[in-house]
Amino acid sequence: MFNQIIKKLRILFMKGKPSYIYKNKHGINKLNISENAIRVCETLNKNGFEAYIVGGAIRDLILGLKPKDFDIATNATPEQIKHIFKRARIIGKRFRLVHVIFYKEIIEISTFRSSPIDIKQDEFGRILTDNYFGSQSEDSNRRDFTINSLYYDANSEIIIDYHDGVYDLKKKQVNLIGEASIRYREDPVRILRAIRFASKINGSISPDTLKYIEKQKELIANIPQARLFDELIKILTCGNALKCLLEIKSNNLHTFLIPTLEETLKKTDSMNFLKISLDETDQRILNSKSVSSSFLLAAILWPQVQIEYQKNYKKNKNIYISMTSASDTVIEDQLKVLSIHKKIISDMKTIWLMQTKFETRKNKTSFRLLQNPKFKAAYDFVLLRAKSNDFDKVVAQWWTNWLESDDKEKENMLKTINKTKNKKQEHKCD
Ligand code: ATP
Ligand code: MG
Repeated sequence: MFNQIIKKLRILFMKGKPSYIYKNKHGINKLNISENAIRVCETLNKNGFEAYIVGGAIRDLILGLKPKDFDIATNATPEQIKHIFKRARIIGKRFRLVHVIFYKEIIEISTFRSSPIDIKQDEFGRILTDNYFGSQSEDSNRRDFTINSLYYDANSEIIIDYHDGVYDLKKKQVNLIGEASIRYREDPVRILRAIRFASKINGSISPDTLKYIEKQKELIANIPQARLFDELIKILTCGNALKCLLEIKSNNLHTFLIPTLEETLKKTDSMNFLKISLDETDQRILNSKSVSSSFLLAAILWPQVQIEYQKNYKKNKNIYISMTSASDTVIEDQLKVLSIHKKIISDMKTIWLMQTKFETRKNKTSFRLLQNPKFKAAYDFVLLRAKSNDFDKVVAQWWTNWLESDDKEKENMLKTINKTKNKKQEHKCD
């Protein structure tokens, strides 16, 4: 409460004018900024335009995190930008942006947006088209959160801050710019973004911003499913995924993304598996390693697959049929809220189905497994399960040793396993 009053006084004092934050205060080391992004700013400047690095990159650099990408804001129009850069293409209809393509990096450039006077909205207030351009100050009002509305001038190394974003960042607080009820209506994805950024910066959401999440969460149903899917992947790869999912659940937003999450979080075993999977994902993100969407989704939905599998197996006693039908049921339920790319669905199903093959170690089957393009993913999945006691650790280690052996050794290992199995069978018969 006290913080909120201070915040309001500070905004009042700023009277719509920006604060200029110098290098010694914000602490960003220019060497941590993409050279391509700096080059794009310099080129735009040389052509007589303003250009700043904005958004997540500046937020993350202040926090000492490695930015995912670098976005630029300028007063040049998309056509002017395209004219300046050889390898540039205009993308988007609703929000026209320019991508400048470099080897291994794409720099996204947006033109300063104008105040929302002429923009086209649907019956709920959702913005449909928004291609009116304005000043930097107007653009800053159009961004979602104060911590995402910081403009870094690569030349002077000064940050221009219209909404006290650096202060909020130090307080680790997510604050929507403007009237929360209107801003969520304009774009309900901001509800999910608020939760994601709060988890990412390991902070909280301000009371005003939080209050309207509960009141307006139903608006999420209007978001196109493909955009919702993208947002789910961003949530799972935000670097603090479990905290983010728990926040999603405690705000009752899981029904729009992963309806089965509630049941998964109730069970200690499933929760343990989820924690181990997501901690590993966070580590990969921290080390700038790639994360596969199919693997991630396969992990999140695995506890539910197992529940369905057990139900099926009780009835038909067939491992393969039970797993196939469990996979189909879980995917079908998930598709009721989110559209998932066919290739991702097929990869998830393969990972799940291959789990049944790791239990039995047979000559032909084991060698055939190796040929499957999803083998590595399925094997990594086994290791995850072993870590959370959902798969026999000794068998998992056997697979690791088997993979490290040459073909001859592989065959011998399988023979030994089968001999032991046969002996056990004989003892049983005796
Ligand atoms: P990250 O890339 O780490 O997910 P980000 O903040 O850079 O985080 P982007 O989606 O890349 O997020 O968007 C870049 C910037 O564009 C944001 O920082 C914000 O200023 C603005 N922005 C993005 N999405 C919205 C939105 N839905 N409403 C208003 N502003 C937005
Ligand atoms: Mg970004």
